[in-house]
Amino acid sequence: MNIVLFGAPGAGKGTQSTLLVERLGMVQISTGDLFRAAIKNKTELGQKAQSFMDKGELVPDSIVIGMVDEVLAKLENKSFILDGFPRTSAQAEALGKILSQRALEIGKAVFLEVPREELLGRLTGRRVCKSCGAVYHVQSKPTKVAGVCDVCGGEVIQRNDDKEDVIATRLKTYEENTLPLRTYFKELNKYVEVNGAQDTETVFSNIKRVIS
Ligand SMILES: [Zn+2]
Repeated sequence: MNIVLFGAPGAGKGTQSTLLVERLGMVQISTGDLFRAAIKNKTELGQKAQSFMDKGELVPDSIVIGMVDEVLAKLENKSFILDGFPRTSAQAEALGKILSQRALEIGKAVFLEVPREELLGRLTGRRVCKSCGAVYHVQSKPTKVAGVCDVCGGEVIQRNDDKEDVIATRLKTYEENTLPLRTYFKELNKYVEVNGAQDTETVFSNIKRVIS
Protein backbone atom coordinates (compact mmCIF):
# COMPACT_ATOMS: atom_id res chain seq x y z
CA MET A 1 0.00 0.00 0.00
CA ASN A 2 1.22 3.50 -0.86
CA ILE A 3 0.91 6.02 1.95
CA VAL A 4 1.26 9.69 2.78
CA LEU A 5 2.93 10.28 6.15
CA PHE A 6 2.22 13.76 7.44
CA GLY A 7 2.36 15.87 10.57
CA ALA A 8 4.19 18.87 11.98
CA PRO A 9 7.92 19.42 11.49
CA GLY A 10 9.55 17.28 14.19
CA ALA A 11 6.64 14.82 14.44
CA GLY A 12 8.92 11.91 13.50
CA LYS A 13 8.01 11.40 9.84
CA GLY A 14 11.62 10.82 8.81
CA THR A 15 12.31 8.31 11.60
CA GLN A 16 9.16 6.32 10.86
CA SER A 17 9.78 6.40 7.12
CA THR A 18 13.23 4.93 7.67
CA LEU A 19 11.70 2.03 9.64
CA LEU A 20 9.05 1.45 6.97
CA VAL A 21 11.83 1.27 4.38
CA GLU A 22 14.03 -1.07 6.44
CA ARG A 23 11.32 -3.43 7.71
CA LEU A 24 8.61 -3.37 5.06
CA GLY A 25 10.74 -2.70 1.98
CA MET A 26 8.86 0.45 1.05
CA VAL A 27 10.43 3.34 -0.88
CA GLN A 28 10.67 6.68 0.90
CA ILE A 29 9.99 9.79 -1.14
CA SER A 30 11.15 12.63 1.08
CA THR A 31 10.99 16.08 -0.43
CA GLY A 32 13.48 17.24 2.21
CA ASP A 33 16.00 14.69 0.90
CA LEU A 34 15.20 15.58 -2.71
CA PHE A 35 15.84 19.25 -1.92
CA ARG A 36 19.07 18.57 -0.06
CA ALA A 37 20.39 16.42 -2.92
CA ALA A 38 19.45 19.12 -5.45
CA ILE A 39 21.06 21.81 -3.28
CA LYS A 40 24.23 19.78 -2.77
CA ASN A 41 24.48 19.20 -6.52
CA LYS A 42 23.66 22.87 -7.10
CA THR A 43 20.95 22.16 -9.65
CA GLU A 44 18.80 25.06 -10.75
CA LEU A 45 15.78 23.72 -8.84
CA GLY A 46 18.01 23.14 -5.81
CA GLN A 47 19.21 26.71 -5.65
CA LYS A 48 15.69 28.03 -5.99
CA ALA A 49 14.47 25.67 -3.26
CA GLN A 50 17.26 26.68 -0.89
CA SER A 51 16.37 30.37 -0.83
CA PHE A 52 12.86 29.45 0.39
CA MET A 53 13.95 26.80 2.92
CA ASP A 54 16.48 29.16 4.55
CA LYS A 55 13.65 31.52 5.38
CA GLY A 56 11.39 28.74 6.68
CA GLU A 57 8.97 29.25 3.81
CA LEU A 58 7.38 26.63 1.60
CA VAL A 59 9.14 25.77 -1.64
CA PRO A 60 6.78 26.59 -4.56
CA ASP A 61 4.61 23.74 -5.80
CA SER A 62 6.01 23.70 -9.33
CA ILE A 63 9.50 22.87 -8.00
CA VAL A 64 8.31 20.20 -5.55
CA ILE A 65 5.93 18.47 -7.93
CA GLY A 66 8.58 18.20 -10.64
CA MET A 67 10.97 16.53 -8.20
CA VAL A 68 8.34 14.07 -6.89
CA ASP A 69 7.19 13.08 -10.34
CA GLU A 70 10.76 12.19 -11.35
CA VAL A 71 10.96 9.76 -8.41
CA LEU A 72 7.53 8.23 -9.11
CA ALA A 73 8.71 7.45 -12.63
CA LYS A 74 11.45 5.16 -11.24
CA LEU A 75 9.43 3.17 -8.66
CA GLU A 76 9.21 -0.22 -10.38
CA ASN A 77 6.05 -1.32 -8.54
CA LYS A 78 7.37 -0.86 -5.01
CA SER A 79 5.07 0.65 -2.37
CA PHE A 80 6.07 4.17 -1.43
CA ILE A 81 5.82 6.58 1.48
CA LEU A 82 5.40 10.26 0.74
CA ASP A 83 7.18 12.04 3.58
CA GLY A 84 6.80 15.82 3.71
CA PHE A 85 4.61 15.96 0.62
CA PRO A 86 1.91 17.10 -0.04
CA ARG A 87 2.17 20.13 2.27
CA THR A 88 -0.66 22.18 0.82
CA SER A 89 -4.09 21.47 -0.61
CA ALA A 90 -2.82 22.63 -4.01
CA GLN A 91 0.00 20.07 -3.81
CA ALA A 92 -2.50 17.38 -2.80
CA GLU A 93 -4.58 18.14 -5.90
CA ALA A 94 -1.49 18.09 -8.12
CA LEU A 95 -0.37 14.83 -6.52
CA GLY A 96 -3.74 13.27 -7.34
CA LYS A 97 -3.20 14.18 -10.98
CA ILE A 98 0.36 12.87 -11.34
CA LEU A 99 -0.59 9.66 -9.52
CA SER A 100 -3.54 8.95 -11.78
CA GLN A 101 -1.38 9.62 -14.86
CA ARG A 102 0.92 6.86 -13.61
CA ALA A 103 -2.00 4.62 -12.53
CA LEU A 104 -0.91 4.88 -8.89
CA GLU A 105 -2.97 5.45 -5.74
CA ILE A 106 -2.59 6.49 -2.10
CA GLY A 107 -4.09 3.88 0.28
CA LYS A 108 -3.88 5.81 3.56
CA ALA A 109 -2.80 9.23 4.77
CA VAL A 110 -1.27 8.73 8.22
CA PHE A 111 -1.22 11.81 10.48
CA LEU A 112 1.37 11.82 13.29
CA GLU A 113 -0.10 13.81 16.17
CA VAL A 114 2.44 15.48 18.51
CA PRO A 115 1.75 18.37 20.95
CA ARG A 116 3.41 21.71 20.14
CA GLU A 117 5.54 21.80 23.32
CA GLU A 118 7.11 18.45 22.44
CA LEU A 119 7.71 19.56 18.83
CA LEU A 120 9.65 22.64 19.93
CA GLY A 121 11.98 20.61 22.14
CA ARG A 122 12.62 18.09 19.38
CA LEU A 123 13.31 20.72 16.72
CA THR A 124 15.57 23.16 18.57
CA GLY A 125 17.78 20.27 19.75
CA ARG A 126 18.14 18.65 16.34
CA ARG A 127 21.59 18.45 14.72
CA VAL A 128 22.52 16.89 11.38
CA CYS A 129 25.72 15.68 9.74
CA LYS A 130 26.70 17.89 6.81
CA SER A 131 28.25 14.94 4.98
CA CYS A 132 25.99 11.89 5.42
CA GLY A 133 22.76 13.42 6.76
CA ALA A 134 22.74 11.41 10.03
CA VAL A 135 20.36 13.04 12.54
CA TYR A 136 21.22 13.71 16.20
CA HIS A 137 19.64 15.49 19.14
CA VAL A 138 21.51 17.42 21.84
CA GLN A 139 19.55 15.67 24.62
CA SER A 140 18.09 12.43 23.33
CA LYS A 141 20.77 11.41 20.82
CA PRO A 142 24.06 13.34 21.20
CA THR A 143 27.17 12.57 19.16
CA LYS A 144 29.99 10.80 21.05
CA VAL A 145 32.34 13.69 20.25
CA ALA A 146 30.75 17.16 20.18
CA GLY A 147 30.20 18.37 16.61
CA VAL A 148 31.55 15.19 14.99
CA CYS A 149 29.39 12.57 13.23
CA ASP A 150 29.52 9.07 14.82
CA VAL A 151 28.90 7.48 11.44
CA CYS A 152 31.30 9.24 9.07
CA GLY A 153 33.34 11.76 11.09
CA GLY A 154 31.72 14.66 9.23
CA GLU A 155 30.79 18.00 10.76
CA VAL A 156 27.52 18.01 12.74
CA ILE A 157 25.59 21.27 12.55
CA GLN A 158 22.28 22.91 13.32
CA ARG A 159 20.46 23.40 10.03
CA ASN A 160 19.34 26.96 9.30
CA ASP A 161 15.74 25.82 9.25
CA ASP A 162 16.09 24.27 12.76
CA LYS A 163 17.00 27.61 14.35
CA GLU A 164 14.45 29.03 16.76
CA ASP A 165 13.05 31.96 14.80
CA VAL A 166 12.81 29.85 11.65
CA ILE A 167 11.08 27.06 13.60
CA ALA A 168 8.35 29.46 14.69
CA THR A 169 7.80 30.35 11.03
CA ARG A 170 7.83 26.68 9.99
CA LEU A 171 5.18 25.78 12.59
CA LYS A 172 2.98 28.69 11.57
CA THR A 173 3.36 27.80 7.88
CA TYR A 174 2.51 24.19 8.75
CA GLU A 175 -0.60 25.15 10.72
CA GLU A 176 -1.91 27.36 7.95
CA ASN A 177 -1.10 25.15 4.97
CA THR A 178 -0.65 21.53 5.97
CA LEU A 179 -3.08 21.02 8.83
CA PRO A 180 -6.09 21.55 6.49
CA LEU A 181 -4.96 18.40 4.63
CA ARG A 182 -6.58 16.41 7.40
CA THR A 183 -9.96 17.48 6.06
CA TYR A 184 -8.85 16.76 2.49
CA PHE A 185 -7.89 13.16 3.30
CA LYS A 186 -10.91 12.62 5.57
CA GLU A 187 -13.17 13.44 2.66
CA LEU A 188 -11.34 10.83 0.58
CA ASN A 189 -11.77 8.28 3.40
CA LYS A 190 -8.00 7.82 3.61
CA TYR A 191 -7.26 9.63 6.87
CA VAL A 192 -5.85 7.79 9.90
CA GLU A 193 -4.30 9.28 13.01
CA VAL A 194 -1.41 7.90 15.09
CA ASN A 195 -0.17 9.34 18.40
CA GLY A 196 3.38 10.41 17.58
CA ALA A 197 4.30 11.42 21.13
CA GLN A 198 5.21 7.84 22.10
CA ASP A 199 8.44 5.89 21.75
CA THR A 200 9.60 5.09 18.23
CA GLU A 201 8.72 1.37 18.33
CA THR A 202 5.19 1.98 19.64
CA VAL A 203 4.55 4.58 16.96
CA PHE A 204 5.89 2.21 14.32
CA SER A 205 3.69 -0.72 15.35
CA ASN A 206 0.66 1.57 15.38
CA ILE A 207 1.45 2.77 11.86
CA LYS A 208 1.97 -0.81 10.69
CA ARG A 209 -1.42 -1.75 12.13
CA VAL A 210 -3.33 1.08 10.46
CA ILE A 211 -1.81 0.48 7.02
CA SER A 212 -2.10 -3.31 6.94
ZN1 LIG B 1 28.02 11.74 8.92
